[in-house]
Formats: sequence, structure tokens, C-alpha cells
Amino acid sequence: MANIVAIVGRPNVGKSTFFNRMVERRQAIMDNESGVTRDRHYGYAEWVGKHFTVIDTGGYVTGSEDVFEGAIREQVEEAMNEASVILFMADCHDGLTDLDKDFAKVVRGLKKPVMVVANKADTAEWSYNSAEFYGLGLGDVFPISSASGSGTGELLDEVVKHFEDEGSENPDDGIPRIAILGRPNAGKSSFVNALLGRERTIVTDVAGTTRDTINSRYKLFGQDFILTDTAGIRKKSKVHEDIEFYSVMRALQALQDSDVCVIMIDATRGLEAQDMNIISLALKYKKGIMLMMNKWDLIEKETNTMHKIKEEIDERLGTLSWIPKIFTSVTDKKRIFQAIELAVKVYENRIRKVATSDLNEAILPEIERYPPPALKGKYIKIKYITQLPTLTPTIAFFCNLPQYIKEPYERYLENKIRENFDFEGVPVKLVFRKK
Ligand code: GDP
Ligand code: GDP
Repeated sequence: MANIVAIVGRPNVGKSTFFNRMVERRQAIMDNESGVTRDRHYGYAEWVGKHFTVIDTGGYVTGSEDVFEGAIREQVEEAMNEASVILFMADCHDGLTDLDKDFAKVVRGLKKPVMVVANKADTAEWSYNSAEFYGLGLGDVFPISSASGSGTGELLDEVVKHFEDEGSENPDDGIPRIAILGRPNAGKSSFVNALLGRERTIVTDVAGTTRDTINSRYKLFGQDFILTDTAGIRKKSKVHEDIEFYSVMRALQALQDSDVCVIMIDATRGLEAQDMNIISLALKYKKGIMLMMNKWDLIEKETNTMHKIKEEIDERLGTLSWIPKIFTSVTDKKRIFQAIELAVKVYENRIRKVATSDLNEAILPEIERYPPPALKGKYIKIKYITQLPTLTPTIAFFCNLPQYIKEPYERYLENKIRENFDFEGVPVKLVFRKK
């Protein structure tokens, strides 16, 4: 399992400051610049070659008196349960407070390595104060300054000693990676939040290829999946040009990182040129693709409205009508989990390997019924068909004159393959080889 470090402590001791220092994500800076406060509770960090996930529980604990009330307490406890190491943070300037002591009680019950982090030890004088925190009875105290970074190295050296050795197996292999893409305002952030709201589900962050996409692993109704999150794509609030640029970059990275792209569309606006651009990008990278027609609640419905809209979209999609569509309302929580189920199904279709015998049994008779048209008086004979061992579906047709197969016939073959085998949502490549 992944190594997880949870930072806990009462408000204002400096948890987020320390979190941001550890994860050093451009995201954090961007959010500050744009004035957007977006709670990022999970980040990915590395120390001396060891990778780990950091949970900042700061966002869960508000400044209210009732820090231990209800959901907040549960969230913090859950974060601590997930953690391999707990950093209990206190503030040298304030010294040991009653709230610290209350909090320490929760932590003491857990059988986890705990380190007491005495933050804001910016000077030697302040760090003398840190000895006070031994009084918590939680273990060793590490004076640090999150602001300057001093002391953090010694702390992290100690933290990584508690990690389990990472095996060579990536625990996230075989778990669908789903990117939620789409134009601003389609409802992407609302969707991610709605998923989160259904069950408290984040398990951990996992490494993306870059730190600009945030990959959170979820388990909902027994289904594991990873969302490669682009929710940082911002509108309104005085978006700087370069932030816009990073947004696009991040969307692209999320797309590349994913197995399946859920392209979210505002159903009241329909499929627009930008959506088609995202679709062609997803095709280019051979990703699974589905359309999530959101804000369905705003559509005036008569009988068959869904069917009609589907047909309109299919017309727009042309030969790409194999892209599945689901009609959702995130605000009404309509079909949002089905959307994830569909994405998982697309994922499974994408890794589908059809047995050569099944392919030949199903497709050769179709070819016999409607053979490739002869060209320049020559007959084209397709002898057998096999799926190549590629990552995404590629079907090879072995024939005498591969160069004579033209596009309309290729499309016929693709349709027959799709009719016989479930490749819904998945680009299928056909290749013709000489035999
Ligand atoms: P959180 O509520 O625990 O997440 O705390 P924050 O990270 O929001 O920090 C609370 C305040 O403490 C902010 O004003 C920070 O700038 C300040 N702060 C954080 N770390 C340090 C530090 O190492 N030294 C000093 N002097 N101030 C700090
Ligand atoms: P994002 O930019 O794609 O992340 O979109 P947001 O999640 O910020 O949503 C944009 C706006 O659309 C917000 O005001 C949402 O409340 C609203 N919205 C999202 N989903 C739905 C929906 O299914 N129905 C309706 N009526 N509004 C929605």
C-alpha cells in the first residue's frame, strides 16, 4: 500500500503551510494567484526517493469551537486511519493549549507512529518552547518552521523510516483512471464533489506523470477508480492568461494520464466545437471516451427527448457514434454513479481481448456475405483475423492484397466488429497485413 502521512492539529498551527511546502505543487500557487480557494486535501510528495501521499486535514477543521463535532471529527479520524504516519502539529508561539490536549486524546488511541511537530520555530528562542509539547505524551517533538523550511529535513528523515517498503508492484495497476474533461461550467467540479458527498471515499492520491494533475483514488459501491482531476480549470474570478494556459495543459495531462475520458457537456448548449476538439484529442491518444450530457434537469422533456438528442449527437459524431452518452443531472444527483459505472465499462471494453477463434467465427461469415469489392479485376481475400497484443484494441486482417482495402469497406468491418463484440466507447484500430 501507498505510504500516507496525515497532518493533524488544531486550526492555525500551520498545517496547510507545511502541506504546501511538502507537495510543492504549482497548483497551490496558482490557486492563490487566482484568488480561488480550493481545498486541496491530498498531495503527492517525495523525500530521499521515497514517494508518499500527504493528507492535510486542515480543510476539514474549521475555526469554530466545535472542531470535534460530527462530520469534521469523522473526517479527521478517517484521515488518521488511512495514515501510515501521523504528524501532530502544534504552534511554538501559542505553546501547549487545551485544544491541543483534546486533540492529542484522539490521536493517542490510534496505534500509529506519531510525531509531534512544533511549528513556527523560526528562531532558536521559539524552538526552546517546543520542549513543552513532550507534555502531550505523544512521542518525539520536532521543532520546524514551515515558513522557512528549517527542521523539515530532520522531520522527514524520521517520517520515511516508518514507511513500508514499496514493492515493485504498483497497487494502482488495473484500476480505471478516469479524466473528467469539458468546457468551463459544464459541471465538472460539482460532479467530483457530488461523488465525494455520497460516501466518504478518497483512499489516497497516486502519482500522476506530473504533479499538475491530481489523481485521487476512490472506492464507491465497491468499485475502485482513480479520477485524474482537472477541476482546477477555472472561469470567472479574473483568470490570468497563464493560468488559462496551465488549465489547458492540465487538461491535456489528465487526458494523457487517463484510460477513459468523460467529456462533460452542458446539455442546454449541446455538442460544440471545443467538445469535438477534446474528442479528437482523446481519439488521438486512443483513450476510452464517453459523453456526459449534464444539466439534464434544465431540458424541457417530452416523450423521446432523450432519443432525439442522442440522434442529433450521433449525427454530429458521424462515424464516432460508438461513443456512449449518458444524461445526468449532477445537482439532482441523477445517474451520476451510473456515469462512473459506464466509464468503468468503457475501461473494461478498452482492455478487452477477443479470442482469435471468436473473431474469425463471427467476422469471416460477414466478409463472405459482403466481400471487399474487387479492384482492377483482382479479388481480395481476407483469410483470418486476430487481435494484436497491443494496449488498446487493434484488429489485424490478414489478406492477399491489403493495400486494396478501401475506407468504406474498413468502416463496414469496424461496424461488424462493434456489432459482435462490445467495444463501446473505445477506438478500435484496424490493420491489414499481407498473408
Ligand atoms: P492551518 O490552519 O493549521 O492549516 O494553518 P495555516 O497553514 O493556514 O497557517 C496559519 C498561520 O500561521 C498563517 O498565517 C501562516 O502564515 C502562519 N505560519 C505557518 N507556518 C509558520 C511558520 O513556520 N512560522 C511562522 N511565523 N508562521 C507560520
Ligand atoms: P465546471 O466549471 O465544469 O467545474 O462546472 P461547475 O461544477 O463549477 O458548475 C457550473 C455551474 O453549473 C454551477 O453553478 C453548478 O451549480 C451548475 N451545475 C452543475 N451541474 C448541474 C446540473 O446537473 N444541473 C444544473 N441545473 N446545474 C448544474
